Amino acid sequence: MKEQLKVLAEMQKLDDKIGQYRVLQDVLPKQLNEINEKVEQATIDLLAGETEKAEINKLQRAQEGEIKTHQEQIKKYSTQLSSIKTNKEYKALNSEIAYLKDKISELESQLLALMDTETEVKARIVDCKKVLAEAEANKKAKEGDLKAQIDTLEEKIESTRAERNKLAVTLPVALIKRYGNMIKNKGNQAVAYSHDGSCGGCGFVIRQQMRIELQLREKVVYCENCGRILMNHIQEDTTETG
Ligand SMILES: [Zn+2]
Repeated sequence: MKEQLKVLAEMQKLDDKIGQYRVLQDVLPKQLNEINEKVEQATIDLLAGETEKAEINKLQRAQEGEIKTHQEQIKKYSTQLSSIKTNKEYKALNSEIAYLKDKISELESQLLALMDTETEVKARIVDCKKVLAEAEANKKAKEGDLKAQIDTLEEKIESTRAERNKLAVTLPVALIKRYGNMIKNKGNQAVAYSHDGSCGGCGFVIRQQMRIELQLREKVVYCENCGRILMNHIQEDTTETG
């Protein structure tokens, strides 16, 4: 009987291992996703910054072109001034020149504001490039390892399960079935250890008579509440009996 209990404990250890692999099967693809998403987001942010900068530069060129056109117009008007006959025409042309000069100074202050925005966007682009480089370096460093781990998990689960099944065949069929059902339905835990006089699986207080049975290790003891196989830690037993 003691041998059977030892086998059950070993089986539970292997099922714990399988449980950990299953957690990794859930967690690792998420980590991989996160790594890829960071690169994608950084790429999007950089593209947005570069697009914004290109738009600013386009606007700058358009405004510079407008200033140039106005300046040429002013030059043309200025030469016309000398050949003007009437005072009225002279005044009209002069006010046209004044209007264009106002326009130019307005455009120039807009250009200054654009330069400030461009400086900000340039700084943001530098940051984005840095973030992207870091995200790509992180991906390069971790992606391969993560993928390899994910690929081997199913294999590890299979081999651990085979190891467990090899142990299981030494036990009575009814006991294996009961064990298997609890693994399936009781959160991957068929074996619970007594913990301060309670079931480590559900917390139910173990009766005195059962505590003695647990120490004797002469039969399989089940928790009266959750049905899990109860055991004392092997270490506890050796210190208690020896
Ligand atoms: Zn219990």
